[in-house]
Amino acid sequence: MESLRAQDPQVYDAVLSESRRQGTQLEMIASENFVSRAVLEALGTTLTNKYAEGLPSKRYYGGCEFVDQVEELARERAKHLFDADHANVQPHSGAQANMAGYFAFLKPGDKILGMNLSHGGHLTHGSPVNFSGRMYEVVAYGVNEGDGRIDYDALRDVALKERPDMIVAGASAYPRIIDFEAFGEVARECGAVLMADIAHIAGLVATGHHPSPVPHADVVTTTTHKTLRGPRGGLILSREEHGRIIDKTVFPGIQGGPLMHVIAAKAVALGEALEPEFASYSARVVENAAALAQVLIDRGVRLVSGGTDNHLLLVDLRDRDLTGKDAEEALEAAGITVNKNTIPGEQRSPFVTSGLRVGTAALTTRGLGVSEMASIGGWMADVLSAPGDRSLIRTIRAHVTDLCDAYPLYPEVAAPPVA
Ligand SMILES: *Cc1c(COP(=O)(O)O)cnc(C)c1O
Repeated sequence: MESLRAQDPQVYDAVLSESRRQGTQLEMIASENFVSRAVLEALGTTLTNKYAEGLPSKRYYGGCEFVDQVEELARERAKHLFDADHANVQPHSGAQANMAGYFAFLKPGDKILGMNLSHGGHLTHGSPVNFSGRMYEVVAYGVNEGDGRIDYDALRDVALKERPDMIVAGASAYPRIIDFEAFGEVARECGAVLMADIAHIAGLVATGHHPSPVPHADVVTTTTHKTLRGPRGGLILSREEHGRIIDKTVFPGIQGGPLMHVIAAKAVALGEALEPEFASYSARVVENAAALAQVLIDRGVRLVSGGTDNHLLLVDLRDRDLTGKDAEEALEAAGITVNKNTIPGEQRSPFVTSGLRVGTAALTTRGLGVSEMASIGGWMADVLSAPGDRSLIRTIRAHVTDLCDAYPLYPEVAAPPVA
């Protein structure tokens, strides 16, 4: 980053500080991960200069022969990885992928059935503050508040009663396996399109650590930057019959020129995900989450649904005199980064909440395993039991620093600037 340092020290210093921050705390936000150096390099290339509206070999601009190669690689790798007929790698984000999914199959005013936001659904699944809630009529399904798992009987009842045009299966804060086959049966029974949004679990789906929705859904959307460990972005998979409408909806329907440097980075990440090493990475992500859950449970911390099947867990703080907001702040002071999260049956506002969402994808990339999870789970339980104990938090911060030093992240990027 020599040119950046020389030309714009303000931006350079902020970037460097962010790299240091990532390297010196335990990143346990369930939607985050660390990309490889190859992915970082692809992002910082001349491909950002290129306009390439359209699709490979069907562009509106000249000079696209090399970006065509890049996008073809990304599309072929995505299809191969998820065993899908069709892939569109152009959505700028997960939200854009969902927008394309809606626009391809629905008209304004149609009815969607999505997961209740406070039960783990995403804003783009029908929240009133999001376009999805403003453009469509929204009905919701949720989890059974007793066991924290999706109530498939209630889902079927509401689907048959409401007759939605589309069912959205997927979540941002659901620690259990999602039964996409059951969603597919309900969608067929009520005549709805099924959109599966695997933004969080894409990496686990790619490696068989979560059942795939591809055989059951009309369209599958995802981000590329969560468990899939690629650059920030979106991706849409579908059956061949829907490929044309999806492509047309992404461009010219909702986007202009694709971000070709990001598509190059997606191609690199998808290539990594096809390697056997990524399958063992995914296995470790799930093992680590299970190990962390067990330590917390043993220490008396309540988890929604009593555990996890995937990369994340949801802590239920309602039995403590502690909000999600205060717990997040206390853990942050101890060097452990998580986010406050609403939980099923939530009584507090989304800015306060009664829960925490904790994930293992990023720390697993960094190389941490089940024995480190045992330490981290113990520290988390200590903080949650005494969030106001400053000396305890200082002691844990020191342990976190030692652990971070033992597993350096991008050592050459985070190195202090040469004086
Ligand atoms: C993260 C997420 C998205 C949105 O992805 P962005 O890239 O932040 O737009 C959509 N759906 C689900 C289920 C998510 O978890």
